[in-house]
Amino acid sequence: MAGSAKDRLAGEVAEIVGGPQVLTEPDLMAGYLVDWTGRWRGPARFVARPATTEEVAGVVAACARHHTPLIPQGGNTGLVGGGVPGPDRASGPSARPDPGLPVVLSLGRLEVVEPIDTAARQVTVGAGVTLGRLQLAAEQAGLAFGVDLTARDTATIGGMVATNAGGVHVLRYGPMRAQVVGVEAVLAGGQVISRLTGLEKDNVGYDLSGLLVGSEGTLGVVTRARLRLITRPRARVTALLGLSGTAAAVDLLAQLDLPSLTAAEIFYADGVERVGHHTGLAPPFPTPSPAYLLLECAGPTDPTDELADALDSAGPVHDTAVATDSTSRAGLWAYRERHAETVAALAGAGAPHKLDVSVPVAHLAEFEARVRGLIQQVHPGAIAVLWGHVGDGNLHVNVVGPDPNDEAVDDAVLRLAASLGGSISAEHGIGRAKLPWLALVRSQAELAALQAVKTALDPARLLNPGVLLPG
Ligand SMILES: Cc1cc2nc3c(=O)[nH]c(=O)nc-3n(C[C@H](O)[C@H](O)[C@H](O)COP(=O)(O)OP(=O)(O)OC[C@H]3O[C@@H](n4cnc5c(N)ncnc54)[C@H](O)[C@@H]3O)c2cc1C
Repeated sequence: MAGSAKDRLAGEVAEIVGGPQVLTEPDLMAGYLVDWTGRWRGPARFVARPATTEEVAGVVAACARHHTPLIPQGGNTGLVGGGVPGPDRASGPSARPDPGLPVVLSLGRLEVVEPIDTAARQVTVGAGVTLGRLQLAAEQAGLAFGVDLTARDTATIGGMVATNAGGVHVLRYGPMRAQVVGVEAVLAGGQVISRLTGLEKDNVGYDLSGLLVGSEGTLGVVTRARLRLITRPRARVTALLGLSGTAAAVDLLAQLDLPSLTAAEIFYADGVERVGHHTGLAPPFPTPSPAYLLLECAGPTDPTDELADALDSAGPVHDTAVATDSTSRAGLWAYRERHAETVAALAGAGAPHKLDVSVPVAHLAEFEARVRGLIQQVHPGAIAVLWGHVGDGNLHVNVVGPDPNDEAVDDAVLRLAASLGGSISAEHGIGRAKLPWLALVRSQAELAALQAVKTALDPARLLNPGVLLPG
């Protein structure tokens, strides 16, 4: 039942969102309290599921009155533990609600896709709309959305704005930051700010929408976003190339003069072999290559010849497979997209260490070579599975073997990325997972500025404490 008489806050929230939308039973809350990887979990006072901006504002204001922390949650596909409660408080069955526990604010019911503004090529959507639904709506209007990622059917626009999600098309269209025209959000006291006019030119003071992009639920709760749409490409071609290694992939990409290039993904022989074991996919080529580069081009006319010409004049390639129809293209993409589930299955109950980093592209090959050796040095026998967005210098380093709470391997990998002029988070954010390493890539002055912004917008530190910045 929503809000036993013992929990006044749950009762107040039930008045706002309706009793059935306040989850207090452990089995109903369970899925909201553990992240996608299984590495991050913690207790909550209850889960609230508002359906409108007004309801979100009401819940946030009620939590503020009760000095209760809030954890915004979208599709819960985040990979740094930012959307679930922290494990820092002892949990256990108790007849009384613990007033110190946070409330999980699930935004999945804010799922309105407003009519597409074809003149401006923009759309306003609720925070709970999944990327897949947005893509479909855009497609039906003859347009497309510039960001794509494997978790498209679950990840929400609110979560993607909050993490400044990247994905496979960043090299062509940029990350979420480049798609967001404006944001509507609820601030820590329950006030609503709204920048949804869609004006491309609006130079009036600080860019509050921009501030919320990448803020990981620590500055406000995103309730709606106004997004740019792009021309829907009429034709696509996908090519999978077998190469001698990361250096060959980087060199080849540097030589390609391909205005229609939308994706350049890298993965490796050991990963493809594991994907094959997990999914039953046959190897892409009779002889494995050390590295694979997946290229995709898209445009108003068939880009196949443009890609073929560019590849002819580029460096040596072991093997090539080209696909133009959607089924064959999906077949090539499967080698890349099924890495994440393969690693999750490998880890079993152990939970993988997911270390998403970027380095300057010129250092990518060095990083890839050194990180494999480093992982073995720190944890002999660990399984390392790597893949990433080569054009962005972004590798996802997945490590299975070390205990989830043993952070020695995280420390080594993040320090190596930072030492090469890279970032400890390319696209997933800081969350809880990377907080101890923030100072590797942010100066004291920058950290102080981040804290000042947080204090200005959330003085009581009720929004996602312990995420992105120390609680
Ligand atoms: C298989 C797989 C592939 C992935 N591939 C990519 C990829 O290529 N690129 C990439 O960038 N990410 C990727 N991710 C990570 C994840 O999908 C993104 O981080 C995504 O943006 C999270 O969206 P979500 O709705 O699931 O957010 P959640 O996981 O629910 O939350 C993520 C963060 O955003 C905050 N938040 C959520 N909703 C709101 C809101 N409405 N207002 C304020 N804060 C909010 C949370 O508090 C948390 O800090 C992948 C994940 C998986 C499982």
